[in-house]
Amino acid sequence: MAFIDLHLHSHFSDGTYGPEELAAQARRYELAAIALTDHDSVEGCPGTAQACAAVGVEFITGTELTAEEDGNEVHILGYCVDTQNATLLTQIARFQAVRQNRIREMVARLNQLKVPLSADAVFALANCKAPGRPHVARALVAAGLCSSLDEAFERFLKKNRPAWVPKFKMTGAEALELIHQAGGVAVLAHPGLNRTDEVIPGLVEAGMDGLECFHTKHATATTERYLKIADRFHLLVTGGSDCHGMNKGKPLIGTVKVPYEYLEKLKARVAGISAAALPRATP
Ligand code: AMP
Ligand code: ZN
Ligand code: FE
Ligand code: FE
Repeated sequence: MAFIDLHLHSHFSDGTYGPEELAAQARRYELAAIALTDHDSVEGCPGTAQACAAVGVEFITGTELTAEEDGNEVHILGYCVDTQNATLLTQIARFQAVRQNRIREMVARLNQLKVPLSADAVFALANCKAPGRPHVARALVAAGLCSSLDEAFERFLKKNRPAWVPKFKMTGAEALELIHQAGGVAVLAHPGLNRTDEVIPGLVEAGMDGLECFHTKHATATTERYLKIADRFHLLVTGGSDCHGMNKGKPLIGTVKVPYEYLEKLKARVAGISAAALPRATP
């Protein structure tokens, strides 16, 4: 049986692997296909596509967008998006600017708490356009200001902790529209993590295509629950490890077994979207 991993991060956001390493790991775990889903970025897609082609692994373009639905943070995965789509790239650039400003604000709060971290240290460590809290945590550890990433999140960075800064977020419907107009399908990421099942019907109404039923942090019972919900709403099923490389100690790629058949259904849906977008032939 062939397996896939449709949720992976690289150093173009808060993961540690580069394209070659991701492709090599996919090969090592005998994955038939992978998708790169960096936060607010598609920058790593062309390079990872190339690296995957070189080792015989199918590659699916992707991104993970942060949105807000009824006051809850939700992550929306976009698959098979055109990574050259002008509107997608313009909006991503906006979200990246928001992320960079947020790093400066978080560092300013840390400085007020007499934690001597500089924004430049975070940017140098992040070395990407979509920096986030994991980079601040890593910079705190690198500077000897925290002893672990967990400590950094617990003391400073978790929601409502003293250096936490809320982030501007688009609505779920806006995220879906952005992905659709770029030719992709939109999937609610790790619903079991956010425990926000009440947002699902509204997102389905707004055109959401799928539900990430398989995820590292979903227990078997959770996966089964979401498979039933996906079935009830006629949603695509996806899944992945949400691997961030060496960030959290152990790389997660290869730890979630998602059958290839779900990718076949996803690609059929994408083909339908593309066909619908084509101009009708005049008789
Ligand atoms: P951001 O997009 O900047 O808000 O950062 C969110 C990222 O931080 C997520 O992708 C998580 O992987 C990571 N994260 C959130 N909470 C924690 C935590 N308590 N410990 C480690 N990483 C976390
Ligand atoms: Zn992340
Ligand atoms: Fe996420
Ligand atoms: Fe993720």
